[in-house]
Order: sequence, then structure tokens, then C-alpha cells
Amino acid sequence: MPAPFSTAASLYDRVRRVIPPIEWPAFTDDIEAILALKRERNAVILAHNYQTPEIFHCVADIVGDSLALARKAMTVDADVMVLAGVHFMAETAKLLNPGKTVLIPDLGAGCSLADSITPSDVRLMRQRYPGVPVVTYVNTSAAVKAESDICCTSGNALAIVESLGAPRVIMLPDEYLAKNIAAQTKVEIIAWKGHCEVHERFSPADIGELRAAHPGVTVLAHPECPPEVVAAADFAGSTAAMSDYVARHRPARVVLMTECSMSDNVAVEHPDVDFVRPCNLCPHMKRITLANIRTALEQNSHVVTIDPHVAERARRAVERMLAV
Ligand code: SF4
Repeated sequence: MPAPFSTAASLYDRVRRVIPPIEWPAFTDDIEAILALKRERNAVILAHNYQTPEIFHCVADIVGDSLALARKAMTVDADVMVLAGVHFMAETAKLLNPGKTVLIPDLGAGCSLADSITPSDVRLMRQRYPGVPVVTYVNTSAAVKAESDICCTSGNALAIVESLGAPRVIMLPDEYLAKNIAAQTKVEIIAWKGHCEVHERFSPADIGELRAAHPGVTVLAHPECPPEVVAAADFAGSTAAMSDYVARHRPARVVLMTECSMSDNVAVEHPDVDFVRPCNLCPHMKRITLANIRTALEQNSHVVTIDPHVAERARRAVERMLAV
């Protein structure tokens, strides 16, 4: 996190491993402006692990996965929060921080998983499977969360499913996360057909090629990847779990089967680890830039609002998860 009186020049040391010197001058004007605007507006920037390093390491105050962002944001004294991530994350931040102004720099920053399901789809699933509890991944809109019994993240999904004490559970919307959890529990999991367009593109053949090209490489996969990819990896876990794995095990060479910027951001913290980077970009995450973060703070755009009735029910599903 930048110290309160950091300057762009003093921040370059953090990112010199992943941003070439020739590219750096293109960022400095926006970084200086954003640091000043944050002080003026008592604002904080929440950046997801998939944001580019000049955002993640140079202007963000809070970093992590979507839930960690919203939870950590509950502990800071700020009037304004800018969510450097996608729209459902901004909604989750607003749900948990209803009294604060939450801004998203680009309203078009969506998500293929969140877009794969609507509130009426959830209601239809309930009609089809009466009495079966609905567990919804946090990568969904507030309106879908509002139709759910409880939320989960990729890190706590197994614990949430087993906490319900039910023989069958509907798990929405990520088919692969549901299947990866089904492989670890006796609870019958009824899945939906949603996929993350970044993680669904990885294949076991990719891992075979990486292992052949980089003998001894440790392969970490996100549980939004297809089950065959998770089976072929050395470890599967959320972005936070992958980051912890690298910190704890310090593999000589590692590959993260997830969005590209995650490798850059973890690499900055671990100069002794060699990162192999197969690159799958999330086009939604990449809509967020220093330039539109600056505009968001200058113009107070775009303010995230949630219908109060929807917010109350969605918050209940998130809070039930937090209580497990
Ligand atoms: S990486 Fe996948 S799950 Fe995350 S925002 Fe992009 S499309 Fe959605």
C-alpha cells in the first residue's frame, strides 16, 4: 500500500520487476493525481488480485479477493471507496458498507459467471428442487444473492456446504467450482452451467506442456478451472490460498493457472521465485485503469446503489456465510 505521502517516483521500486522502465512514465501523472485525490476525498481504493501492478501496488489501499476487499473495507475510516474490480465486487462492498459511497470506475466491468444466472433462474431451481438449500458463490449480483440461503467463496465453499447439514445442496453458478467441491464431500451437489471465461480456457494439456517445457515447475490452479485441470495441478485454491502457498513453500518455479495479473502481483512480493506466466486475461477486470480510477474520484462516478429490499436479503446471505 502506498504510504500517505508517497510519490510516483518512490513507488517504482516496488514494481520494477514487472513494469519496464520505458512504460513507467505513462503511469506517473495519474498515480500522483490519484494519491492527491484520495487525501482530498478521504477515499480508499480496493483492488482485486487481478488488477494490474500499477493499480495493485501503487494506488490501492486494500488488496485481496472480492470478499477480503469488502471485509477489510468495513474496518477503515473512509467516506469513499473506489472498487478496482468488477461490478459484483462493488455491490458486495456496498452491501457490507451501506453508509459509504462506493464507486466503480467503469460500469461495463462485468463477469461471465455473474452474468450466467438471474434471480428468476434461482427461483426456478427452488421450484425444481423444493427444500434444497441454495449456496451462491460471491461472484453473483446482489439480486441473485438475495434469492439465496447463504453465500460462499472459492476458499470456504466446502465448509459452507458441509455446515448446512443437508444431504443435497444447490450450488450456483460455477459448474466447475461445484464439481471440484463435490469431489471432496459426501453432500450431493446440484450445479448450474456458469463458467468463468478466464479459468474455463485452461486444459490438462496446457499443464502437460508447461511441465515438459519447465521441468520441476509447481502448478497451482484456481477451483474455477475444470476438474481435470485441478486434478492435474499440484495444489488448488483461491487466489488468497495460492498466494499463501507461494509464501509458505517458496517453490523455485511456479505457475498460477489463473488470471495473468495475479502472477505479476505475487511475483513482486517474491523476487526469489521464478514465475512461469501462461496468460489468460479477464477483459472485464482490464476495463479498470489508472485513468478511469482518477476520473471516478474527480467526478464521483459511478455511484453503486442497490435496492434496499434486495440489499437487506443479499446482506443476510453474505452475513450467514461470515458467521460459519
Ligand atoms: S476472472 Fe472470471 S470470475 Fe473473475 S471477473 Fe473475470 S470472468 Fe468473472
